[in-house]
Amino acid sequence: MIQLSGKPLITEAEIRARIGQMVIEIARDLQRQELLIIGILRGSFMFTADIVRVLYNNDMHPLIDFVFVTSYAGMESTGEMKLLREPSLNVEGRWVLIVDDILDTGRTMKYAQDFIKERGAEEVRSCVLLDKPGRRLVDVHADYVGFSIDDVFVVGYGLDYEGRYRDLPYLGVLEDHPAA
Ligand code: 5GP
Ligand code: MG
Repeated sequence: MIQLSGKPLITEAEIRARIGQMVIEIARDLQRQELLIIGILRGSFMFTADIVRVLYNNDMHPLIDFVFVTSYAGMESTGEMKLLREPSLNVEGRWVLIVDDILDTGRTMKYAQDFIKERGAEEVRSCVLLDKPGRRLVDVHADYVGFSIDDVFVVGYGLDYEGRYRDLPYLGVLEDHPAA
């Protein structure tokens, strides 16, 4: 039986504190640019919203857009990525910060970085809440990382399991328990 672990992996307060630190770094590096934030749907919706709110308090007012990237349906992890939604804002000549929930194999982030560079962005930086460095299959890194975690399946704070748990305000672990 798949069930949510009773104890949060990362609490709401820990997420908030870490975002505060990350935004200080982002503001230090990027304050002079008019930044375009591109969130990768759906998993990053909550993280992107929280980053933007804290950026506002640091006097940064980025443009905000979203793309939808997914692996081709069917066979698990064929590695073939598909862009289901183009950015609506022009990325040409811009400084772009890509925001995603988690860096796992790295395929999604690599794909996103490549197509944003192809569309002529001047500078492309990446920010992820979570990183599972042990799972990487593609050579890619993020400039701003919230937490490095072990290879566990996390849900909450935007991340789902079959569409559920995205609304949890904290990050939890899904565990597979043999039926009693
Ligand atoms: P990558 O392309 O780096 O393998 O995978 C990134 C995407 O896989 C994430 O944006 C996320 O949607 C999904 N993913 C990877 N690990 C997890 C996890 O532990 N929990 C959930 N809910 N999604 C994950
Ligand atoms: Mg995702």
